[in-house]
Amino acid sequence: VRVVDVVASALPAGRVVTSESERRAHAHDYWALEAIHDLGGTPAEPPPAVVYPEATSEVATVLEIAQQHRAPVVPYGLGSGVCGGVRPGREALVVDLSRMNRVVEVRPESLVAVVQAGLNGGECERRLGEHGLTLGHFPQSIDRSTVGGWVATRASGQLSTRYGNIEDLVLSLEVVLPGGRVVRTFPAPRASTGPDLRALFLGSEGTLGIVTGVRLRVHPVPTHERRGAWAFASVADGLDACRRILRRGGTPAVLRLYDGVESDRNYHVGTDKVVVLALDEGDRPVVDGCFAVVEDVMSGAERLDDSLVDHWLAKRKDVAALEALIKVGAVVDTMEVSGAWSDLPAAYDAVVAAMSAVPGVLAASAHCSHSYLTGGCLYFTFGGRPEVAEGAEPTVAEREALHRAVWEAGQRAALAHGMSVSHHHGVGLHRGQYLPDALGGGFAVLAALKAALDPTGILNPGKLGLPSPFGPVELP
Ligand SMILES: Cc1cc2nc3c(=O)[nH]c(=O)nc-3n(C[C@H](O)[C@H](O)[C@H](O)COP(=O)(O)OP(=O)(O)OC[C@H]3O[C@@H](n4cnc5c(N)ncnc54)[C@H](O)[C@@H]3O)c2cc1C
Repeated sequence: VRVVDVVASALPAGRVVTSESERRAHAHDYWALEAIHDLGGTPAEPPPAVVYPEATSEVATVLEIAQQHRAPVVPYGLGSGVCGGVRPGREALVVDLSRMNRVVEVRPESLVAVVQAGLNGGECERRLGEHGLTLGHFPQSIDRSTVGGWVATRASGQLSTRYGNIEDLVLSLEVVLPGGRVVRTFPAPRASTGPDLRALFLGSEGTLGIVTGVRLRVHPVPTHERRGAWAFASVADGLDACRRILRRGGTPAVLRLYDGVESDRNYHVGTDKVVVLALDEGDRPVVDGCFAVVEDVMSGAERLDDSLVDHWLAKRKDVAALEALIKVGAVVDTMEVSGAWSDLPAAYDAVVAAMSAVPGVLAASAHCSHSYLTGGCLYFTFGGRPEVAEGAEPTVAEREALHRAVWEAGQRAALAHGMSVSHHHGVGLHRGQYLPDALGGGFAVLAALKAALDPTGILNPGKLGLPSPFGPVELP
């Protein structure tokens, strides 16, 4: 008996879809290597079927049957991940959560909202807006990702310095475990009830359970806003200013620093200026107080026109330029890592140098996208073309080799300078090789958790650096 047929007969009609177009649409996410293979005519193997549950009980049914049949299952939000996290391979059933998209409850007085995990991020924000509320979570991919996907990848929004990242915005979770057991974590604003079980599933990338419901901590829609832009002579000077703002308790929602290359690319100020943008929003006295700190710290820097922030706001979801380069066969990708303030300047220099030294790389640059009391996130972008004989077109294998070589150089340089493997894009397939070393003894704890919660290893096999007991999910 095929597991797809067992699942189809156990669920209401229309839940299991096996059309070629649906299967192909769920074969991969936005991992840059998939684009290289699609373009080169060697696309990912599609899964045998896509399941669209409409209730938690239906997710439970799927996971009960899957465990009984030892059949792999891959949870899928909207497939906007960039690390190969949803790659199913030929065997896995894809469970697409997008029909579980209801806003279940909003409590404006307590600033609490409960949503189903498949809710589109942009739609979530619009629905909260009807109540005068905002989640304050604005990843660049907000309109093409789900709330459950944010939880599963530990996503980060562009206004995170004021509102926090997704882990700060999740009060509790409803999760279905392999075998079909449903777990609901405790929803209080804070509790002393043993280890925080939410944390187990935040960032678990679909390997430990399927998130079906999320209780969110929301905020009133802001009533006041301040913007400013400044220029520094070096990345190190700009980073130091960001550090001092956070150190004095300033938490502007947006605090972004661009190296010379990206400052000129985005704001046409020349490559000798390092642009820093700040934007804060919220209640007037709080925002004015925060901006007093920002302006005091920035007083030694060159003040630029506030319209640079307007420009950033207008373009902040626009990835057309990168997508156009990928379509014409360029090897382009981004790599984000995080570390302590004291390590960031040297890490920036080392990673840009390591990426630039790979033959075929034409550009490597970075911005600092998120700031914390103790450090920040460096977000690198690289682009290049394999060096081939004049007139020859690079093959898929040559493009893939260049992509992997730049990543290896960049990620190793970042790790050598004390950076994390990832700040918010996650691990998926792409970065699995780095996780055992990076987590040290912690990797055995992760593997033990996986074995305890998913003894037959059916959930998202091969991701997060964990072994797959099934067929290969790697690239051909
Ligand atoms: C243009 C672009 C911009 C981006 N900008 C940002 C950004 O600013 N910040 C940021 O953090 N990320 C960003 N990303 C990455 C991506 O959008 C995030 O990782 C997002 O959280 C993925 O959500 P999704 O619903 O699309 O998940 P998917 O890509 O469908 O899945 C991602 C992973 O989560 C698992 N998963 C999905 N849903 C569930 C669930 N309900 N239960 C259990 N596991 C699940 C999947 O198995 C997979 O491992 C960007 C991506 C793109 C393409």
